[in-house]
Amino acid sequence: METVALLKCTDYEVENIERKLREGFELLGGESFLRELIPANSRVLLKPNFLSAVEKGSPVITHCAVFEAVIRIIKDYSSSISFGDSPGTDSPAKAAERSGFMEVAGRYGVKSADFSTPIHVELDNAIMYKYWDIAQGAVETDVLITLPKLKTHGMMYYTGAVKNQFGCVPGFRKAEWHTKQRDPYDFSKMLLDLNSMVRTSFAILDGIVAMEGNGPRNGNPRQVNAIIMGKALTAVDSVAVRLIGYNNVLDVPHLKAAQDYKWGAVLPGEINVLGEKINNMRCKGFKLAREKFIEFSTPAVNRFLTQLIAPNPVLVPDKCISCFKCKEVCPEKPNVITFKDFKGKKIPTWNYSKCIRCFCCQELCPEGAIIIKNKAVRDILKIK
Ligand code: SF4
Ligand code: SF4
Repeated sequence: METVALLKCTDYEVENIERKLREGFELLGGESFLRELIPANSRVLLKPNFLSAVEKGSPVITHCAVFEAVIRIIKDYSSSISFGDSPGTDSPAKAAERSGFMEVAGRYGVKSADFSTPIHVELDNAIMYKYWDIAQGAVETDVLITLPKLKTHGMMYYTGAVKNQFGCVPGFRKAEWHTKQRDPYDFSKMLLDLNSMVRTSFAILDGIVAMEGNGPRNGNPRQVNAIIMGKALTAVDSVAVRLIGYNNVLDVPHLKAAQDYKWGAVLPGEINVLGEKINNMRCKGFKLAREKFIEFSTPAVNRFLTQLIAPNPVLVPDKCISCFKCKEVCPEKPNVITFKDFKGKKIPTWNYSKCIRCFCCQELCPEGAIIIKNKAVRDILKIK
């Protein structure tokens, strides 16, 4: 049985968040829990979600007030705290600067970790991948505390505690993983290995203002008022997805994979939730990105049916600013996205027979000009 703390917090006042986090640590075991989590002389890495360089307070990224509140607590346990992430586009430094993290880090003497240099590492007992190139900052630490944002995700349905470590893969190497792991279930297995590799110790999930709809970048902010804390990343995610409307947590691909590979606690009966009750915190009418993960019998059948029923990335032409970023980030370039003339500008078109549905284009379009559209056949088959 794993334990998580669910706290209600309605704003981004640092003092309020700090008070809630202290309540959470108290529920989890107080001083002795923290001493065990952060042994004496440990180097601690805080890993927020910097999807891209956006303004402070944007629902695209972890709020810097959560970062500050965490620092205020853990500085009593470690004198070596660093932070970092590798965004999908933009440099780590630019993302840290715009989001307010650099300013907070400067006030507390928190160092910026190197998330650009890859280090080659090996994982014993991997589900799928033994060899990895991981950002130096994520390797050269003793305790990794992940600070994810609660968001919808076009490809992975939801992003939180487990998915957040994908940012430990530096720069454009992330795109290579999309080419290697084309469906959400296999991608999930890769994420589980990645978390085993970087030995994520603890998660503090920022679900105060979450993102619904066209996430993880172009959805809408949604007040969920939740902070979820725990050592078991899958347990934290299991609570989060129940808050936003998944009645069956196995409808989320990485939780299904974690359950199949006995990687961590996933089912409600395996998780002891302290603090608030999930039922009292559920966010009614939350707009999910996708609803139900369906896995088919074999990879070949999977590939065939993916072409038949998988949703497509589709353009909202008027929003497009012809920046070409979608083509840049597509791991299947140059085959999938080409540009054509439209009302005096260039807009993308897709070769869907070559598209692997990683939705990186939808994720990283700066204008929210790409949405994910279900095919009619899904409606006929009643697949959400
Ligand atoms: S769809 Fe988005 S990413 Fe692609 S060119 Fe248009 S604005 Fe840029
Ligand atoms: S077009 Fe978009 S969804 Fe398709 S492979 Fe390229 S980035 Fe992925």
